Amino acid sequence: MGFKLSKSSLARRAGVDPRLIEISDMAIDLTLVDFGHPEYAGLRSAEDQKELHSRGRSICDGTILKSHHQTGRALDFYAFVDGSASWDPAHLTMVAVAFLQASSILGYPIEWGGLWVGDNLTVKDGIPYGWDMPHIELA
Ligand SMILES: [Zn+2]
Repeated sequence: MGFKLSKSSLARRAGVDPRLIEISDMAIDLTLVDFGHPEYAGLRSAEDQKELHSRGRSICDGTILKSHHQTGRALDFYAFVDGSASWDPAHLTMVAVAFLQASSILGYPIEWGGLWVGDNLTVKDGIPYGWDMPHIELA
């Protein structure tokens, strides 16, 4: 589809595991729905993680419960549709499919947070989604 990651999306991948960068590079070529990487998408310090936890944006507090983002083994994304960021489950799923296909081709297994069953599944149009749809990590 000819999508390209923006400079800020590219910068936000700095420090993550090189396999995730390869997956992201291939996914942007494969995807039918454009995507980007948001602030704190990649490598996070314990302080970043604590801050996100205190704002309710992560269940990991960075110390007792550590995130895979703190070791560079996770990467977040959003969909980009009609000129703005989208966290619509259908859009995120299409992007996740591109990540999963890239992961399969490259031979680096990943998990997608949209398959993670927690306390609260999101149900939209009768389809259940796991609790961390904008997240992938090395398996
Ligand atoms: Zn994440």
